[in-house]
Amino acid sequence: MADFVIRVGSRSARGRRPNNEDSYVADDKRHVFLVADGMGGQDCGERASTLAAEIIPRVVQDQLAAHTEPGKAVQHALHEAHQAIMTAGSQQSAARRMGTTAVLALQQEDQLFVAGVGDSPAYLIRGDRVDQLTIDHTVADALARNGTITSDQARQSPWRNVLYRFLGCSEMTEDPEVRPLHLEAGDRLLLASDGLSNFISPDDLRAGAQEKLHPQEWADKLVDLALDRGSRDNVTVVVVAFDAE
Ligand code: CA
Repeated sequence: MADFVIRVGSRSARGRRPNNEDSYVADDKRHVFLVADGMGGQDCGERASTLAAEIIPRVVQDQLAAHTEPGKAVQHALHEAHQAIMTAGSQQSAARRMGTTAVLALQQEDQLFVAGVGDSPAYLIRGDRVDQLTIDHTVADALARNGTITSDQARQSPWRNVLYRFLGCSEMTEDPEVRPLHLEAGDRLLLASDGLSNFISPDDLRAGAQEKLHPQEWADKLVDLALDRGSRDNVTVVVVAFDAE
C-alpha cells in the first residue's frame, strides 16, 4: 500500500467583492480537502459555505470511525451539510436562496474519493495530463453535455452561472456521485472556486506541476494570476501534492 508524503497549500482572496463567500478546508491530518463557494443575499453565502466547511470534515471523520465505506462517508457528509443549510435557509425568509457549492476530496491510503455539487471544480494533474474530476452543474454545461449548444457557446451563455445542483438547493434529491481514484506518487490535486477556475487554463496547471513548486507557492501564484487576469469574484484554491516517501 503506497503511503504518501502530503503537502498542502491554500489561499482564499476576497478580491473585489465586499465579502468573501468562499470557504475551504486543507486538512492533511484528516485527509479532507474542500472548497465551498457560497451564494445568497446579505451574509447568507458566507454562512452556507462556512457550514459546509464545518460539517463535512466532521461527518466524514465520524462516518469513517463507524467503519462506513469512504465513498458513502463522503455522501453522508454532503447530505448532512445540505440538510443543515436547508434548515438555516428556511429559518429566515431573506435567506431563501442560501446555498453553496462544495467540492470535496477524501484521501484514504492510495485512494482518493472525489465529489462535487455546483461549479467548483477538482483537477488531477498527473505528468502532462490535466483532468477535471468533477462536472459543472450549471445549466449551460448541462446543455453543452447533451449537445444542445457547443462548449464555446456554453462559455458565453447567460446560463453559465445558473446552478441546478448545490447544497441548500431544494431540488437536490439524489446523492451526489462519488468518483474513486487510484493515486500515484507525483499526483497533484487542485480544488478551486470558479473565481479561480474561470481564469486558469489547463496549461497553467501543467506548468505549475512541471515547475515543482511547493503547493503553497503554487496556490499563491494561481490566485495572483486569476486576480491579475481580471477575476472580480472571490478566488480560492487548495493544492495537494502526493509524493513518494
Ligand atoms: Ca464564485
